[in-house]
This record gives sequence, C-alpha cells and structure tokens, in this order.
Amino acid sequence: MMMSRRCLVAMTQTLIACHGCDLLHRVRPLPEKSKARCSRCGTLLYVHSPETVNRTLALAITGLVFLVIANLFPFLSLESQGTVLETTLITGTIILSQQSMAGPAILVLLTSMLIPGLLLGALVYVLWAIKRGYRLPAGRRLFRLALTLRPWSMTEVFLLGILVSVVKLAKMAAIIPGTALFAFLALVFVLAAINAFMDPRAIWEKMDKWS
Ligand SMILES: [Zn+2]
Repeated sequence: MMMSRRCLVAMTQTLIACHGCDLLHRVRPLPEKSKARCSRCGTLLYVHSPETVNRTLALAITGLVFLVIANLFPFLSLESQGTVLETTLITGTIILSQQSMAGPAILVLLTSMLIPGLLLGALVYVLWAIKRGYRLPAGRRLFRLALTLRPWSMTEVFLLGILVSVVKLAKMAAIIPGTALFAFLALVFVLAAINAFMDPRAIWEKMDKWS
C-alpha cells in the first residue's frame, strides 16, 4: 500500500524510540511538568515543560551577556614583588600560543569561547523566532547545530583547570580574581541550566508549525 509523505510524517511524529532499549512508544499529551518513561527499561522519554521556549531563551540571553563580560573584563591578576600581571581570556590564549602551545590555545578558544558563543547565539536566534512567530531562514539547521555543539561546550573543564592553576600559583604570587572569572563561573551554571531545562522535542514541534 502506498503511503503519502504527509501521512508518514504524521505517523513518525507520534512515535518516539527509547534511547535505552529502542522500544517504540506512541507520544501522548502529558500533564504539566510530568515526565514519560519507557515502559520496558524506565529511561526518560520526554517531559512536558510548556515554558521551555521562554525559559531557555531567557537563559541563553543571560549566558550571552556573561560570555561578553567574561571576554571584556580582566580574568585574573597576579601580583608578585610589586608587579601586577593582568590577563583576560583572549590574552591568556595568545600567551599560550606564543609559548609553542598552539594546540591547547585553539582548544581553549574553541571549547570555552567560540562553541558556547555559537551555541547560545543559535538558541537565541531560533527561540526568539519561535516566540515572536517569525519563520527565520536556517532555523532548523541552527537548532540542529546547537544540539550538536552542546557536548563540546566545556566551560566547566576550563574553569576547573583555572582553579587548579590558581591553587598552584597561590604560593608564588598573590592572585586577584577579576570580574570575568565570576561571569565565567555564572556562565557555567547557565549552560548547565540550559542542559537541564531545554526540551528539544517541544522546540522541534514548534518549528514543525512553521511549514
Ligand atoms: Zn527503554
């Protein structure tokens, strides 16, 4: 029997495969703030959070503000024998690359600045369009990019590295934390909150209404 594309799309939109055991489930409307779990293995299938667009958009804008502050203001200052050395995120990576560590410098630049920036920018673009009811070009592609970039945003690893170096350097020089360090710490929490609260399925469903 020939099945029309529209019919096939409608069918697959109502089915969801469990990430744990591949069992197919039919998607049913859930009460607010409730979760659907796999009937076979108990893996979380989807959640119903009606405020996912507003919350994720607010978090993504907040994250972008923290990222800008983290890049503009001093990150750490080292004071030793009357000399103060002030670093920002960008000067830190430039110093790394000047010391024949171009690889780590590129990794730091990518995972702690460019990828979080791209991820947050893409989310703001897509979610703003959904909220305002606009259909912006490349929305789906950008949201897919944001989902792909999520595991590569490693701000917490970078922050952990900074804290370890601060503890080691504390014996040699006085360390003064800068505004950017606090902004970066806040960014780590904002990104974790996006991971926890964003419901990609609900956002895809809203984008389906574009066509
Ligand atoms: Zn399962």
